[in-house]
Amino acid sequence: MTMSDSTTAITGATALVGPELRPVENAVLIMTEGRISALGSSDDVAIPAEAQQVEARGMTLIPGFIDAHVHIGFFPPRRVLRAGVTTVRDLAWPPEIIFPMAERSKAPGFQGPLILAAGPMLTAPGGYPTRAGWAPSGTGLEVSGPEEAAVAVGRVKEQGAEVVKIALNPPAGPVLDEDTLKAIVSAAHERALEVTGHVYGLAELRKALDAGVDELAHMLMGTDRISPDLAARMAAEHMTVVPTLAIRSGGELKAALGNLGRFAAAGGRVVYGTDLGNAGASPGIDRREIRLMGRAGLSPAQIIESATAAAAAHLGLKDRGVLEVGAHADVVLIRGDPLADPKALGRVKKVWRAGIPAL
Ligand SMILES: [Zn+2]
Repeated sequence: MTMSDSTTAITGATALVGPELRPVENAVLIMTEGRISALGSSDDVAIPAEAQQVEARGMTLIPGFIDAHVHIGFFPPRRVLRAGVTTVRDLAWPPEIIFPMAERSKAPGFQGPLILAAGPMLTAPGGYPTRAGWAPSGTGLEVSGPEEAAVAVGRVKEQGAEVVKIALNPPAGPVLDEDTLKAIVSAAHERALEVTGHVYGLAELRKALDAGVDELAHMLMGTDRISPDLAARMAAEHMTVVPTLAIRSGGELKAALGNLGRFAAAGGRVVYGTDLGNAGASPGIDRREIRLMGRAGLSPAQIIESATAAAAAHLGLKDRGVLEVGAHADVVLIRGDPLADPKALGRVKKVWRAGIPAL
């Protein structure tokens, strides 16, 4: 007997339903066997007699947050789950540690979020993060030319990579040349993997776009300004941006806020991510990241969407990131109304992953 065999009914809250986050007041949300089995207004949904009831008047139900940029090895996974994040994507860690952990995280009873992982970051010999203070040995995988690209990508794919991470970070060492980068991208795409990059400045962004890199794992890291024209090119080429604003300060923060605002205004897809483990972000839904996304011009609904439905679509996660019947019961109860005040997203009251409460 596991908790997933039981039925839970959450009553009285406002539920943000569907990908469009439609508020349903005085909702009943029923979770059975890891899925949402009924959801609607209390007038329409009957509560099964055997259900454990959770009274949640004055609170809001949202889909579990998806953080598309973490280094989960820095924190106990249960702390991340307990604070509202039910799925994470780890963007660089030694493969012998992260892939087995990602495998374990698939079990619904795992006290932590579902973990998707990139494994090691592909980089030039001696390049970032091979000498980065935060990175345990094996966090980088050196690729010394186009011939090695397919071998490296094939290896991480076989180990369990859900995405390929590359680095173009000149301040921290040599970077991949154009031909090697292109070979990595085509080897990844041949294996149905997307490529995300730690991309430092404008020169590196152009190189990434030319090579077909799918995603920025951070908004640009320096102080370079992305023009509206370049933002439009990024959006037109379906590049996704995971901003990780909370790790920055000063001029770099100011530049990232402006760049994100222009990218979002151009219609670019923004997916929430904190770079948990590096400089500052706290485990769980990160208040500072949310506040800064608001400062960049995203509406409360856009911020929630970036961490739920848009993130799930981007990561290919079926039936997640949304409150609707049939979806995984990854559910977060928060105090207050996040559509009126996104700060409420930091006030997590209770979390369920696959219908099982986080402890
Ligand atoms: Zn990172």
